[in-house]
Amino acid sequence: MNIPHSAHTATEPDGWAVDILLARPGHDQPLLNQRITTHNGLLCAPQAEAPNPLGAGRVALPAFANAHDHGRGVPTLSAGIPDGPLEIWLARLGVEPRVQAYMNAACAFANMAEAGIGAVVHCHNTQNGRALLAEAQGVAQAAHDVGIRVAFAVPFAGENALAYGPDSQLAKCFAHPEHFPQLGATRFKRTLEEGLAIVDELAKLESRTFSVQYGPVGPQWVDRKTLETISARSQSTGRRVHMHFFETRLQREWADAHFPEGIVTYFDRIGLLSPRLTLAHCCWLREHELDLLAQRGVLVSCNTSSNFRLSSGFPPITGLLQRNMTFGIGLDGMSLEDDEDILRETRLLRGVAQSLRPGVDGLADKGQFLPQCYDALLRGGREAVVGKDGGGIVQEGAPADFVIVRTDRIMRHKVPDAALPELLLTRLTRQDVDTLVVDGKTVVQNGHCTGVSKPELEHTLDELVGEALTRISADKPVVNTNWEDGLRRFYRTGAHRQRTPEQT
Ligand SMILES: [Zn+2]
Repeated sequence: MNIPHSAHTATEPDGWAVDILLARPGHDQPLLNQRITTHNGLLCAPQAEAPNPLGAGRVALPAFANAHDHGRGVPTLSAGIPDGPLEIWLARLGVEPRVQAYMNAACAFANMAEAGIGAVVHCHNTQNGRALLAEAQGVAQAAHDVGIRVAFAVPFAGENALAYGPDSQLAKCFAHPEHFPQLGATRFKRTLEEGLAIVDELAKLESRTFSVQYGPVGPQWVDRKTLETISARSQSTGRRVHMHFFETRLQREWADAHFPEGIVTYFDRIGLLSPRLTLAHCCWLREHELDLLAQRGVLVSCNTSSNFRLSSGFPPITGLLQRNMTFGIGLDGMSLEDDEDILRETRLLRGVAQSLRPGVDGLADKGQFLPQCYDALLRGGREAVVGKDGGGIVQEGAPADFVIVRTDRIMRHKVPDAALPELLLTRLTRQDVDTLVVDGKTVVQNGHCTGVSKPELEHTLDELVGEALTRISADKPVVNTNWEDGLRRFYRTGAHRQRTPEQT
């Protein structure tokens, strides 16, 4: 396949002149008229410049970070898959068209880059389980070509592929189980050793902007030996772990039934809870569980739009804030308007949190919440990708990852400089992103990727998806009402709460 490239990412020897620098938005005062330069991927000390009379409000701030995503070049809605409750929606994903991993990821990463996202955790959904390594190599190439920092979470799964329980239980929920050959069918399952070997192989591709993480997909989808082995490997190697956790109420119920000691207690016993762990969602945590996660320094990704669209619940935002926990913001491939606009996502989380703790003496009244929102967008999510690397701030010696936005569209009146952080978080959207620099290289210029041509990538991907959708729709409906009714019966009868001998 012809992979379209338009230009190479470039460094900028003279640096970047900006009208305002928000080195640590919400914390430090804005600096006027600065020049930012880099050396070997690190920031030099910003230099004061003479005011630019033509300045159109170019504002620099640290690059945004997406704490949890799946790198979908084509949103699921575009593949004809309607949103719905997670457990039903997952069944619909089975008809997602198979498209080349490189194209899919390159489109997704380019879309993120043009929204100002300089770092992302990519939780890989395999399209062909037997080709995971090849798919991962395609994603690594896409990350390199677009130029943003990508942490590739290698998926470990295989349990409870159809529902949170054995196929034999699910079969009882159908009047004619024989109509559903997937029940009890032999499915490909990667062994733990094969998964670990892929991590080791992929680690050879690690670079300053590409890294590998263990990605047990979620406790209901992996066995305990896998969790315990990954926990031990993470301890000995320092490699991060990224996992979905308590996304839905049904997952909470499954865990309560299968872990009488408490699943979070179990995680702690096997050494999984540490600052190396990111848990995505956490909508159904209990207070004492949050206490333990806070004690162990676990990082949480809040994925508000995804929780709204997949009818999952609320991110545990007020509990995170009460405990001063580190958290990031994740788009989960399900941003509110399918546009990867993490600025709007931050706004959404802020609004939800302020509504949950409203009024006088509420969140918005304390004056501390704005900096915390910026910290999540710029630092917390970044930590989920690269760990603590001193980034998420524009200062000498920090990794050279920053974004330059234009404020001419959103500034109808001159506002006091001190009011700028509040105004940006209220009005800025992805269309205002002008430049993204990652590792000292210009990844986005004038709002467009420099390393790849997004329009060409999208055109090629659209053709691939169009062909695949024609083939799929010919023999398989996206919404199989009978199958979905069976799934609903399974959960209504509480089958996911029944412990089975092999799962105890
Ligand atoms: Zn996810």
